Amino acid sequence: MILPGETIGILGGGQLGRMIATAAAQLGYRCHIFAPEADSVAAEVSAAFTCADWHYREAMAAFAAQCAVITYEFENVPVTPLAALECKLAPGARALEVAQDRLAEKLFVSELGGTPAPFASVDGNADLRSAIEQIGAPGILKTRRDGYDGKGQWRLSALEDADSLDLPTTPLIYEGFIDFEAEFSVILCRGQDREVRFWNSAENVHKGGILATSTIPASPAVLAQIDEARALAAQVAQALDYVGVLTLEFFATANGPVFNEMAPRVHNSGHWTIEGAITSQFENHVRAICGLPLGDTSLAANSVEMRNLIGDDADDWAEILSNPANHLHLYGKAQARPGRKMGHVTRLVL
Ligand code: AMP
Repeated sequence: MILPGETIGILGGGQLGRMIATAAAQLGYRCHIFAPEADSVAAEVSAAFTCADWHYREAMAAFAAQCAVITYEFENVPVTPLAALECKLAPGARALEVAQDRLAEKLFVSELGGTPAPFASVDGNADLRSAIEQIGAPGILKTRRDGYDGKGQWRLSALEDADSLDLPTTPLIYEGFIDFEAEFSVILCRGQDREVRFWNSAENVHKGGILATSTIPASPAVLAQIDEARALAAQVAQALDYVGVLTLEFFATANGPVFNEMAPRVHNSGHWTIEGAITSQFENHVRAICGLPLGDTSLAANSVEMRNLIGDDADDWAEILSNPANHLHLYGKAQARPGRKMGHVTRLVL
């Protein structure tokens, strides 16, 4: 067990790290951020900061020596330098390895009985033509690695689009377009003692590939599919011998839940848990990686809505605060760029 007062290392310096560090501070832990970018909104609320390249071995070793346990808030941390941390890392590196590659992720989940969108690996225009012939159009071409918030994605509506696209040289995956009724996520926390707790599943609405809102309760179409989706998420957690918060995103379709992607970390669609659940995803992640008992994940309200503040949405902070029911979270980012997550606002109905 990692005792309060000890130091939790966090790989990644963004808002998820900031919210983990805030929850850790409440439990009496110190946090040490490791990130390659100098302006880290997580470091601003943490006790220590190492700003270094992921591959700078000496810096990583010095960081590790100062931490009792190390977690990550960013799923594209390169896995190779983490070999040196493996005994302190929670969740482990295998979860990152799987989640970093859309192809590996879909194969992994399929082997456990999950259903992803029909997919084919693509390397070049000829491959793309045959993928579209096999799967059909419309579809979405995605980079296998490093894509997030709709980045690295191209929507294709017909076979002819395969020839006109100037494809990147990185490995790609083509997915059939899913005609879904709704999108939802399953967020669980698995403790060191293997206990698994789930939060209520939020119904998620994306705009331009970026999460816009998460709402609880989800619609009946989603509620009917949660048990099946949870069973898959629990199997993924077990197969990875996972410790901490794990998120799986799904499309609710007429044929049941279709797996979209997983994140081996706390998730934007779980930000509502800070006020809307007895224990937040951030606190339970800290509890899990430190070997503490998990907190109650039940709802603390009848309904909850979380809305992301993207780009200049955050300029409305004063107006948001003028409604006393709103819980405003600003991440402290200096520049509001289009598509950048600047904060979120949560509203509960008790
Ligand atoms: P992703 O980065 O894969 O989560 O994609 C971002 C968003 O794009 C998803 O949340 C969906 O709204 C949409 N999307 C991604 N893949 C598909 C698909 N195969 N079919 C339909 N919509 C998709």
